Amino acid sequence: MKSLHAEAHALSKPEVQLDIINSHNVAISSLPKFEEKLNDIGLYPLKPTGVEIFQMNVGYMCNMTCKHCHVDAGPDREEIMTKETFEYCLEALKGTDIHTVDLTGGAPEMNPHFRWFVEEVSKMGKHIIVRSNLTILTTNKFNDLPEFFKKHGVEVTCSLPFYSKFRTDNQRGEGTYDKSIIALKKLNDLGYGQKGSGLLLNLVYNPVGAFLPGDQEQLKQQFKKELKRKHDIEFNDLYTITNLPISRFLNFLLMSGNLEEYMEKLIESFNPAAAMGVMCRNTISIGWDGRMYDCDFNQMLEMEVEEGAGQHIRDFDVEKLNNRSIRIDQHCFGCTAGAGSSCGGATV
Ligand code: SF4
Ligand code: SF4
Repeated sequence: MKSLHAEAHALSKPEVQLDIINSHNVAISSLPKFEEKLNDIGLYPLKPTGVEIFQMNVGYMCNMTCKHCHVDAGPDREEIMTKETFEYCLEALKGTDIHTVDLTGGAPEMNPHFRWFVEEVSKMGKHIIVRSNLTILTTNKFNDLPEFFKKHGVEVTCSLPFYSKFRTDNQRGEGTYDKSIIALKKLNDLGYGQKGSGLLLNLVYNPVGAFLPGDQEQLKQQFKKELKRKHDIEFNDLYTITNLPISRFLNFLLMSGNLEEYMEKLIESFNPAAAMGVMCRNTISIGWDGRMYDCDFNQMLEMEVEEGAGQHIRDFDVEKLNNRSIRIDQHCFGCTAGAGSSCGGATV
């Protein structure tokens, strides 16, 4: 067997990641396949329920380099969506029933066409979600974005690993917690997260180690109580997300010797109800270069939507996408464990 360090080093290649989670050792390869579990409950092949959410990854550049980032994002990543690809996206959205455009990255705000695109989508009357890391909103170049978000009724969904400085900084880097609190306060001052304002502010929680997130409702109440008590901060919802065994988190699992145990935990916790509600069934994911995927995780593994469904945004066709089979592999167990996991939190 290759050394763990050698495997971790080679992790930037998607095919290596898939190989590792499929056949790292006998223990894992003898465990059931995701496909078999879906078959047992009559869900294989996995089919979409319709395209309702258009999730765009507008680039891998980020001002941060969090330990468990599934995008492997950072300041030195150069992959970025061009204006031409944004225009294809606008064209694709026209005349569809897609109600929500969900912008993610990296830090989506860092794409030079970000503001223009938000304005264009806003004119179309679609709901817009921006996945913000919060710290970007405290930098000179981007500190006017909260007002811009308010103007366009953008829903802000932001990651905050925990309500304590130690745990947040440990996962996301020194100084993250304090900057996140400054950004949250500013959003609150503009009405975000406040009752009756219609300005939605949601938090995303993901575990710091090789375990599943706790109960979403309980964590939400805990976060609400502590953020209010410590900083007088309010927010609407909290989404718990399970870390999928890909990219930096896969690296962490390998380096800490937790991969087998974590995969076993995900597989043992397979929940048929969560499988019914996996996000790939109503979402399509567009990569920075216009290629289309069933979800952001498949995008990181370079598993494009199946052939015949139109693999590039230029060829966007809702009917073809609705008829496709969703591409799955062992990482999908991360979406179906326990209460389920999606970009909107637990699915059960
Ligand atoms: S987790 Fe988010 S904030 Fe952190 S490096 Fe990745 S994209 Fe950036
Ligand atoms: S990883 Fe992607 S394709 Fe697999 S179940 Fe989750 S959302 Fe669907």
